[in-house]
Amino acid sequence: MTTLLQPETLAVRAGTQRSQFNEHSEAMYLTSSFVFGSAAEAAARFSGAETGPIYARFTNPSVSMFEERLAALEGAERCVAFASGMAAILATVMGLMKAGEHVVASRSIFGSTVQLFSNILGRFGVTTTFVSPTDPAEWRAAVRPDTRLFFVESPSNPLTEVSDLRALAAIAHEHGAVLAVDNCFCTPILQRPLELGADLVIHSATKYLDGQGRVLGGAVLGEKNLMEGVYTFLRTAGPTLSAFNAWVLLKGLETLNLRMRAHSENALELATWLEAHPKVSRVLYPGLASHPQHELAMAQQITGGGIVAFEVAGGKDAAWKVIDASRVMSITANLGDTRTTITHPASTTHSRMTPEQRAAAGIGDGLIRIAVGLEAGVDLRADLARGLDSI
Ligand SMILES: *Cc1c(COP(=O)(O)O)cnc(C)c1O
Repeated sequence: MTTLLQPETLAVRAGTQRSQFNEHSEAMYLTSSFVFGSAAEAAARFSGAETGPIYARFTNPSVSMFEERLAALEGAERCVAFASGMAAILATVMGLMKAGEHVVASRSIFGSTVQLFSNILGRFGVTTTFVSPTDPAEWRAAVRPDTRLFFVESPSNPLTEVSDLRALAAIAHEHGAVLAVDNCFCTPILQRPLELGADLVIHSATKYLDGQGRVLGGAVLGEKNLMEGVYTFLRTAGPTLSAFNAWVLLKGLETLNLRMRAHSENALELATWLEAHPKVSRVLYPGLASHPQHELAMAQQITGGGIVAFEVAGGKDAAWKVIDASRVMSITANLGDTRTTITHPASTTHSRMTPEQRAAAGIGDGLIRIAVGLEAGVDLRADLARGLDSI
């Protein structure tokens, strides 16, 4: 039922499997194993001659429903769900790569992803070169004969830099490498990387897919043959999404379309207001005409998304004053929630970088990141106006 239907319909209908009770809302299957009708059926399931559930580390109907719904939304042949976004990223590397192979990754990726590539995978002989998210020539120059994976997030965190996904896919494919896109910030509602030439899409479902800050989850999506190794890693190593979390995420997907559009509308309104504010020196939001990659962003994404970054003069003291004046916004590093969050990247999410690395990356001490939620714009503006007027 998946191919001819619109995303709004897929988000509420795709992947539903009903039990013998024909429940309307999807069931949550809290069971670690499944019973076979006979010894012969057990043998057939284990040998792969017959498909069907065996053990919840491998498959669970609630998890499968989430996987199928997300696959339909991303236009992917196959989705494998994980316990977290980081588990999904690890599984991608473990499923695709071996010691001695090389990754080219954007410099502007999630902090734990940088640690995973640099410190953990480095110990197992997988090396990574970090390059600019906005300069495809750097990616081309970084390629080596053993390069197997390109890894990017677009837009990036916290500066909302936009990468040319078509260009990166072309360079990766010229060299026999695979392009994986962490699509956490856009979700398939705003951007479908597989349609732009990417081979794999990765999600931290913890963010917008849940959308209400309740559970951790992750997913990897792509063609069946690429996904085989990713699934084998899950089945063997066990970073499995729980049935409960899968069910919560399945419900999250039902409102994803409405939420992403509302987050984006609220973010554009706030970014436009910030850009006109005399105390704000710079606003970064892909939906603003002033954004350095605005045209590219609008060609790849349906809207600018929910993340806005801006800078105030006066460095850390001024930024902290603005943050501490919040009454509605939550001071937390999480994002993709119905509740707006406000963060000072230099002293939290990006504090492990040296001041020189932060300066090189453009993450100044006066930078503030807002993951715009679903509250009324007037209340969010009042929060920021209170802080900005005090500096
Ligand atoms: C949060 C996040 C991750 C990691 O996801 P977890 O579910 O926390 O493991 C990966 N990529 C991006 C872009 C994120 O924001």
